This record gives sequence, structure tokens and C-alpha cells, in this order.
Amino acid sequence: MPETPSDDAILSLGGVRKSYGPREALKGVSLAIRPGEFVALLGPNGAGKSTMFQLLTGLFNADAGEIRVCGHDIGRSPVAALASIGVVFQQTTLDMDLSVEANLRFHTRLHGIAGREAGTRIAAALARLGLAERMHEPVRALSGGNRRKVELARAQLHRPSVLLMDEPTVGLDPASRRQLLDEVLALRRDGVAVLWATHLVEEAEEADRVVVLDAGKVLAEGTPASLVAAAGAASLAEAFLGMTGHREAAPA
Ligand code: ADP
Repeated sequence: MPETPSDDAILSLGGVRKSYGPREALKGVSLAIRPGEFVALLGPNGAGKSTMFQLLTGLFNADAGEIRVCGHDIGRSPVAALASIGVVFQQTTLDMDLSVEANLRFHTRLHGIAGREAGTRIAAALARLGLAERMHEPVRALSGGNRRKVELARAQLHRPSVLLMDEPTVGLDPASRRQLLDEVLALRRDGVAVLWATHLVEEAEEADRVVVLDAGKVLAEGTPASLVAAAGAASLAEAFLGMTGHREAAPA
């Protein structure tokens, strides 16, 4: 039986397994996230982070275990479960030749959000991220950091309860990384739950909770301070290195 997730969780995984042929990418992973919580999924390359995101976004089904979003089982009620999720994928999924607005309109249409309401939401989301002036420009004209912000705006247009960010700072310069992290940390105020996958310890340091994933298993979870204390380490980086034997894959 999968472990029972905590009752107040908005997103939960219980005993989730996924293999690619003989290779087990997730070996019985359980975790739960509450509304307004920012959880960092910290793991080296190959840990299983992307596989978990593929299951959470309904791209693949788990071989075993249960995933629930806002009470909906993703296997049995995928439409209801996915309606509550916003995603920023690792690779950009914007159309470079369309305007910022056209990219966002496509998403509102997909979610059945009608004309005037869509326009209001798009304008508000872009204003919050400082991109109101760029609305009519093709995405191609934007910097990498601003493209990511457009993806963050898009992920929120249907007002999801859970935001999934799959290594969203890959390829961004340090200032853009910091800005993106700050924008997403601020969403806690609105009660949005965030799962932020990263291999960078510094991005996990401000999380409410860190889940350390390695070779398809959760090795540890807790606040950054509790993980440091439990490992008898001087920093989260040292605790992570002690647990996984991996250094961060790349400097921030
Ligand atoms: P991460 O996102 O943490 O880097 P992944 O989920 O991409 O980890 O990979 C987890 C494991 O599953 C790795 O050993 C990887 O080689 C393997 N894997 C991922 N995708 C596939 C696939 N499509 N086919 C076979 N093996 C895969």
C-alpha cells in the first residue's frame, strides 16, 4: 500500500514507481505539499526529477502508487487534476514568432477562459512581472529571463493551486535566476503551492521544505535548517554532498 499522504496536502505522491525498461527511475517516492508551501526537489542529474514531473503533468502514468492533486487522482480524473496545476517546463514551450500576448491567449483558450476575462488576466499577470510594455512584441525579442517570466505568467493564468517548476533557471544569468526565484517565492502569499526542481543547493536554501531525491529515492526531507542539523553539516551544500556524494552539477 502506498503511504497515506497528509490530509491537508494539495499535492501528494504515495509510493510512486516508474521504470524505463529495466531502469527504475522512481523507486517508491512519497511526498506531500500543503497550500502556500514552497518545496524544493533537490537532486543531482539522473535523480528522477524530470520523471516525477512527467508523471505529475500526466505525460506518463506511474507503474505503481498514487498521485493526487486537490483531491483528484491523476490516473482516474486527469482533467480535474491537471486543471489545478500550472507548469513551467525545463525547455521553453513558447512560440518565438508569436507575440507575448498571442502565446498567453492560446493558453487561456485552452483553459476555456473567455475574451474579456482573458485580457484582464493577461494584463495583470504581465504587469506583476514588469512586462506590460512588452505584450505586443514577439517572444524572440525578449531576453531569456523575460521569456521565463512569460512562461511563469502563462502557468498562472488559469489560477492553479499548484505550480510545478522543472529546473526553471537553467540557462539564465544569475540576476535573472534570482528574480525568477523571488517571483515564485512571493506566490506563497496567495496560497499557491510550489514544487521547484533543481540541482542547485542555493535555490533550495530559501524553500520551506527540501526533498532530497537521488537515484529514484527520497533520501531526506525537512526544512533547510533541519537537514543541515541532522547531517551535522555546516551548510545545506555540505549536507547534500554528504547524502548524495554529488557536487552540484553546475555553478549558479
Ligand atoms: P533528473 O531530471 O533528476 O536529471 P530523470 O528523471 O531525467 O532525472 O532521469 C532519471 C533516470 O531515468 C536516469 O537514470 C535517466 O537516465 C533515466 N531516464 C530518463 N528518461 C528516460 C527515458 N526516456 N528512457 C530511458 N531512461 C530514461
